[in-house]
Amino acid sequence: MASNLIDVTTPALTLEGISRRYGGVSAAKALDLTVAAGELVTVIGPSGCGKSTMLRLIAGLERPDSGSISIAGEVVADRRRFQEPERRRVGLVFQDHALFPNLTVARNVAFGVNRLPAREREQRVAEVLELVRLNHLAARYPHELSGGEQQRVALARALAPRPAVVLLDEPFSSLDETLRGRVRSDIVAVLQETGTTSLLVTHDQTEALSVGDRVVVMRDGVIEQADTPERVFEQPSTRFVASFMGDADFLPANVHNALLTCEIGVVSTVPGWANCDVDVDVVLRPHEVALALDPSASAQVVSQEYRGAFVLHHVRLASGRTLRSWQPHHVRYAPGTRVSVTVAPGTSPTLLVNDRAVTEPPIAAAGRALQLPEPSPVPTSR
Ligand code: ADP
Repeated sequence: MASNLIDVTTPALTLEGISRRYGGVSAAKALDLTVAAGELVTVIGPSGCGKSTMLRLIAGLERPDSGSISIAGEVVADRRRFQEPERRRVGLVFQDHALFPNLTVARNVAFGVNRLPAREREQRVAEVLELVRLNHLAARYPHELSGGEQQRVALARALAPRPAVVLLDEPFSSLDETLRGRVRSDIVAVLQETGTTSLLVTHDQTEALSVGDRVVVMRDGVIEQADTPERVFEQPSTRFVASFMGDADFLPANVHNALLTCEIGVVSTVPGWANCDVDVDVVLRPHEVALALDPSASAQVVSQEYRGAFVLHHVRLASGRTLRSWQPHHVRYAPGTRVSVTVAPGTSPTLLVNDRAVTEPPIAAAGRALQLPEPSPVPTSR
């Protein structure tokens, strides 16, 4: 029946102008976000930026002050309507698993579908336990499971009622480093196999980039960028996103007739920026900064950090500004070594004006645009 088909054209989740204040704190400021059916969106930002508030608003554990929230095309919160959490088609997975210690794995999972007739309920519990490959542990109690297994039970419980959206709040942060990678790939695989729409909050930048179809970067209750992992890292929309998602250094630079130059020389050409002379900041990441031994150079290595696969070098330029450069693990320039600093070929770095990325010459903002010659008057008479 057509009515049973998943409608992939209706977003699984839509936030429009969602705001929420706690006393003097704006935890969410006019959030707009659309999540497509089956998408896995990671949410990242500094502590206190509003990540949990956003999840709580979607789950119905908080009411928005303004704006509207729709889940699978149904408005669940706006100025007039507020659907209670248990009626929203939202599954929740928390950092601490939140399993009932006195219930077996099977009964923990059954809790989410306790309204189903017994037979259907058992069938659904077996199905989702199969999905997370835990059927063989159905009779165990939570304390008889590893942290990773407990988290898989929590996911099975969240998936059992076939939610439209699953919200995962730092689901791997209580697991140790070795276990985390494995549990993460297990859980992400289940979310992908089942085509589950999910929002996953994390404080781990690598996790946000590697797991998400899209990454939402938040700051002070605002979504700074919601974009593919590649664009968030390679084309950050603001200075904050550039520095929060990976290491980034910033140098004052200038674009003159499509040539980007800064203290270390020519960085790149900037196609489309002909006929302008604009001051910008250029964003440089350590893998884009090349070093070469040069006793006559003015730049000097200040320190180095051995990171295993590479060595992060801190280099002081003549101006006193510092840049970071990744060198292969066998290259170790001692502090004090003089090095020439260049930008790796093929780099097309992000340019910022007033802390925002610009892709076109901001002629009006910069106020230093070259005056183009007046076009020749078009003869009006023949
Ligand atoms: P995050 O999850 O990104 O760490 P939160 O959403 O928990 O951030 O919090 C965002 C801001 O809202 C913080 O300044 C926090 O102190 C404040 N906040 C969150 N919940 C409450 C609450 N129930 N009462 C008062 N302030 C709150």
